[in-house]
Amino acid sequence: MPAGNPPPLVIAEALLVTQDPARRVLRGDVRIDSGRFSQVGGHASREGAEVVDGHRFAVVPGFVNTHAHVAMAPLRGIADDVELDGFLGTLFKVDAKRTEADVEVGARAGVAEMLLGGTTSFLDLYYAEDAVARATDKLGARGFLGWAVLDPDKTTQPRPPLEGAAGFLSRWAGHPTVTPLVAPQGVYVCSRETWLGARELAEKNDTLLHYHLSETRREVHEHEERTGRRPAVWLEEIGFLGPGQVAAHAVWLTGEEIGLLARRKVGVAHCPSSNLKLASGGLAPVVELRAAGVSVGLGTDSVASNNSLSMLREMHLAGLLHKNQRWDASVLRAQELLDLATLEGARLLGREKEIGSIEVGKAADFSLVRLDHPTLLPARPEAIVSHLAYAASEEAIASVWVGGRPVVRDRVLLGADWEKVRSDAELAADTLWASRAG
Ligand SMILES: [Zn+2]
Repeated sequence: MPAGNPPPLVIAEALLVTQDPARRVLRGDVRIDSGRFSQVGGHASREGAEVVDGHRFAVVPGFVNTHAHVAMAPLRGIADDVELDGFLGTLFKVDAKRTEADVEVGARAGVAEMLLGGTTSFLDLYYAEDAVARATDKLGARGFLGWAVLDPDKTTQPRPPLEGAAGFLSRWAGHPTVTPLVAPQGVYVCSRETWLGARELAEKNDTLLHYHLSETRREVHEHEERTGRRPAVWLEEIGFLGPGQVAAHAVWLTGEEIGLLARRKVGVAHCPSSNLKLASGGLAPVVELRAAGVSVGLGTDSVASNNSLSMLREMHLAGLLHKNQRWDASVLRAQELLDLATLEGARLLGREKEIGSIEVGKAADFSLVRLDHPTLLPARPEAIVSHLAYAASEEAIASVWVGGRPVVRDRVLLGADWEKVRSDAELAADTLWASRAG
C-alpha cells in the first residue's frame, strides 16, 4: 500500500446504502478526505477532488469476511465431497509441503478474489501469516490475520507455533491495514497450555483471538470423552473465554454454551457454505445467539470447503437456510443479512466505530455496485438491500475502495496484475496438487 493519504474523492449522485443507525438508503454524494467519509448525502463540494459519476451505482459498505484461510486459493476443489476428517487428512498432507513463497502466491489470489467480490476486510487463520500480510498490504485490503497456534507436537510449522505467533505480532504491530492476532486452531489440536498461552500472548499485545469451535459432532463428542466437558464449557472452565474473541462455526452449541459465549462477549463467525459442504449436519444457532446478545458475522471459510470467497453467496445462503430450518420466513431478514456482512462483522473485530457503514468519520471502505446490472433490476431504493442479500451477482460489483484508496476499478484489480497473480497461483497449484497423494 502506498504511503500518505489518498487524494479527495467525491462519488456524485449515487444510491447510498449507508448502514447507519437508521439504515437509511438515500440518493446523494459522498465525499472522502484523507481516506475517511467527510460527507454522506446532499451535495458535496467538488473542490480538489476526483469526481466519479455515481448515478448508475449504489455505494455499499465493504463486506467483512469473519472467517477465511485466503492462502488456500490454489487448493480450491482439492478435497471435495468428503466430511471434515477426510478433508483435513488431505489438507494436512498438502500443508506439510507448503512454502512461504506459495502461501504468498495463494494469498494474493485469495485477496484478489475477495476484493473483486466487494470484501474489504477479512479475518484469517493460517500459518506463515507474514506472507498473507504482504499479499494483503500489496493488494490494499484490510486484513485481521491470525497466526495458527496448536500444540508443538501436532504442527508442521518449523518453530513452536506460539513463538511463531509472537514474532508475527511484533513484526506487524502498528501497520495501518494489517492487524496481527493469535489463532488457536481448535480443541482437537490445542491443549490447555496452548489455549492459555495464546490468550496470554493476545492480551499482552492487546489483540484479538480467533479459533474454530464445535464445527462437527465428532469434535464435540471426542472432546467430551477426553475431558468430560463440551468444548465451550471446557474453554470457560480453563479460563480462556473472554472479549475480543471470534469463534468460527459454532454449529454444535447447547443453550448453556450460548449463554457462556454471550456472557464472555465472544463473537461467532457463521460459515454456512462450509458447514453444508462438509456435511456438518447441523446449523449454527444464529437466531438464538443473536437473541442472547452474541455478535454474529459471516465467514466463507476456505475455498477448499466453500468453494468461494463470495460474501454475496454467504448472505443469500444464510438467509435461506435459517428461514427454511425454522419454518419462518421472517428470520434473518435481508437487512439483518446485510448487517451480518458489514456492521456486525466489524463489531466482531472490535472495529464497529471504524468500518462497516457509510458514515462521516469512518474509513472509506466501500464498493460501487452497478444498478444497471440484470441482477439488480428493478433498481429501486426500497429493494436495494433485498437485492444485495438475495440476488446481486459479483459481476455487478464494479469498483472497490479501501481507506479511500481504489483497489478495484471497473472490475480490474489495481494492486497487482491479475494475469501474474493467476499464473503464479496456477504454478503453485501444480506442485500442491501433486503432493496430495504423497
Ligand atoms: Zn476454518
